[in-house]
Amino acid sequence: MTANSLLKNLLHIKGTVVDSFDLGENAKGEPSLVVHVHVGKGLRWRCPVCGKKCHVHDYVCDEAFWRSMDLGPVEVRIGARVPRVRCPVDGVVTAAVPWAKPGSRFTTDFAFSAAWMVKGGLSKKKVSERLRTDWETVGHLVDLVWHELEPDVKKRFDGLVRIGIDETSYRKGHSYITVVVNHDTNTVVWAHKGHGKEIIEMFFSELTEEQRASILLVSGDGARWITDAAKDFCPNARRCVDPFHVVEWANEALDSMRIDAWRRARAALAEMVRKSKEGGSANDRDARERIRQAKKDVEQIKQSKYALGKNPENLTTKQQERLALIQAGDPQLMRGHAMKEKLRLIFKLTDPTLAEEELDGWLGWAQRCRIPAFVELGRKIRRHREHILNTVRNGLSNARIEATNNKIKLLLRVAYGFRNIDTMIGLIMLFCSSIEIPWPGRKQKEPINKGAITTQVA
Ligand SMILES: [Zn+2]
Repeated sequence: MTANSLLKNLLHIKGTVVDSFDLGENAKGEPSLVVHVHVGKGLRWRCPVCGKKCHVHDYVCDEAFWRSMDLGPVEVRIGARVPRVRCPVDGVVTAAVPWAKPGSRFTTDFAFSAAWMVKGGLSKKKVSERLRTDWETVGHLVDLVWHELEPDVKKRFDGLVRIGIDETSYRKGHSYITVVVNHDTNTVVWAHKGHGKEIIEMFFSELTEEQRASILLVSGDGARWITDAAKDFCPNARRCVDPFHVVEWANEALDSMRIDAWRRARAALAEMVRKSKEGGSANDRDARERIRQAKKDVEQIKQSKYALGKNPENLTTKQQERLALIQAGDPQLMRGHAMKEKLRLIFKLTDPTLAEEELDGWLGWAQRCRIPAFVELGRKIRRHREHILNTVRNGLSNARIEATNNKIKLLLRVAYGFRNIDTMIGLIMLFCSSIEIPWPGRKQKEPINKGAITTQVA
């Protein structure tokens, strides 16, 4: 085998002839290889849009370069002269090359290796470092791979039965993205910038009548526009509320109680200090001890946000101690905590009748509790009573929904550096799908046929 044909195999490109190569150094003084090639007769010259064989129009540049995967420590580029062709349909366009997608200055293998690393959870910094490229470029490569692996996204709309609509904020809450999830496959089927009625209507208008009719369940937070959209577009769908949103509402109510309790404790402390100064008992040992204890109480309440919000089974010992101290110092706050917990556990029930009884019991409790934040929460829960019961009746798994939601949040954080919103959406669509990204040159595993998903909706 000649060096040229060895190189051709190492570059992993077919239908190409290696003319020569230069081994040298890149701008950073690292080893670099430029392989000059020309496209073989069989693949010459095709329109990048329709793939039709075309006549050469002209040669505008001498040689263009594409980044290829590294060979060992060596940075590799492919160099070739490519003409513009005249396609009867698409006009004058730069001819297609077999190793890269139109318009890309990176080989397809390079793009796949980038997407593989990002999907594998490698950090922004590591991917950029490994590939010697910036993060924005990685984003474009991910987008390219997504389009390559899934040319027809609308296929994801076929056979939808249980869907979830979720809006997630990013850029510190300044921007929103709306995501539609297929609960039966835990994949994202649609994502778009913005949120609200108009955005979700865009999604439903992309569906055929048949596709809309197959949807039997729509879940989301408590937003009115989700209820309206479900009613308007999905004639057969039941509206559900994702349990983690309900728990979030309860946690918000609990936190507003905590802040009130903290203010009360702080005011009591200030009063205590004032009195002790006035009464000249600043040096009284008991008074000093009482003030010390009051200060401790204020601090405990201040720092208890996470302990109160967490599921009790996940508490650390320190957080358990903190709650015990609050129990002693502020029983009302712990009553709020008990109400939050009770509400959360309703979603764990599998018997719909029992869940209904428990929820109604809870609603009565909220009405009588005389804690303004929970009275208010009770009213909100009452408005969504039917939606909550639908969730229990259909056994929507909160853990899975929350896991998908957290994955999207994580992806948005990873994609935060992308200036282009489409790149972010590409990342979400690719990563919240069942699509496997093959590493270049590896044999792909046979796709596992999970069989048709049969879902019953109560
Ligand atoms: Zn064409």
